[in-house]
Amino acid sequence: MVTAPLRSDGVRVRAPGKLNVFFEVGPLLDDGYHAVASAYQAVSLFEDVWAVAADDFRLDVTGSVDVSAVPVDDRNLALRAARILAQHTGFDGGVHLTVDKHVPVAGGMGGGSADAAAVLVACDALWGTEVGSAELHRLAARLGADVPFALMGGTAVGLGRGDRLSPALATGRFEWVIVLSNGGLSTPAVYRELDRLRSGAAMSGHPSTGAIRLSGRTGRSQDDADPLVAPGVLHALRAGDAHALAGHLHNDLQEAALSLRPDLRGVLDLGDRSGALAGLVSGSGPTVAFLSEDLESALELQVTLSAAGYTALHVHGPVPGARLI
Ligand code: ATP
Repeated sequence: MVTAPLRSDGVRVRAPGKLNVFFEVGPLLDDGYHAVASAYQAVSLFEDVWAVAADDFRLDVTGSVDVSAVPVDDRNLALRAARILAQHTGFDGGVHLTVDKHVPVAGGMGGGSADAAAVLVACDALWGTEVGSAELHRLAARLGADVPFALMGGTAVGLGRGDRLSPALATGRFEWVIVLSNGGLSTPAVYRELDRLRSGAAMSGHPSTGAIRLSGRTGRSQDDADPLVAPGVLHALRAGDAHALAGHLHNDLQEAALSLRPDLRGVLDLGDRSGALAGLVSGSGPTVAFLSEDLESALELQVTLSAAGYTALHVHGPVPGARLI
């Protein structure tokens, strides 16, 4: 059992938000989950976590995004991450956490997952528990499907629930413009909407809305249990080729997110008309991400979208996962 913190002065950890540059969702499984195939990229929108040794567990949340909907009790992934690490290692102290959020809440960019990954790294350093990276990864996967990627960062392929990760080679730097939305989308609600749309398409048997379209760009049928990341995505990432990647951006959750938030179509259309190589809804939305040719085009697009009244930010990827700073 670890009884005394090695660091009493506190530690600071930064963890990135993510975009899913490709996201394919398999059919609903008996356990209520969907198998997915995700190509993740960590981008330069960060959560900062400050952890100070204490006898109890406490959390404060601040940030540049609207944090009014973020719980500060044990529903918060950050606190759950601290407790799970304490429990796993037998550490008998606590921690006071301050999370400074910049990733939009319920925005489809994995902000809560980034907080959880940051807290695992912070508490491990603060408490001197020295959990190895394989074990941290296992704890991360228990907290949520996107948490292991927030630990790893960079660019990676996630299979299973998204947590079976392998790093993907990406060269160069991809320039993105993201458009934030007022209000979030609940990830479970978006998956329910996807299931509803798919069952409607299956019932109607209409070829244009049926299995081929809903199974993504690979053209495989919905009955295939194991979704895969299209090889073209990996080639484009490896080549650092934004034009090629733009041709492969894909998100199976997009139709469901647009069905719940039809206003996002206007954002996608404006980005398309304003010089983006391509755009897509990020994860379960409602954040929309546009890929630009280079830094200059990204900054121009950001200005155009901002002038139209949207909250548009320029970010780049890939960036590292949760790190002490
Ligand atoms: P994902 O794309 O990983 O599904 P998301 O980015 O869409 O998630 P989050 O901001 O991670 O969404 O959080 C979704 C919900 O989880 C929030 O509405 C909130 O109620 C709850 N939550 C728990 N912990 C956190 C946290 N640390 N930060 C933000 N929300 C949190």
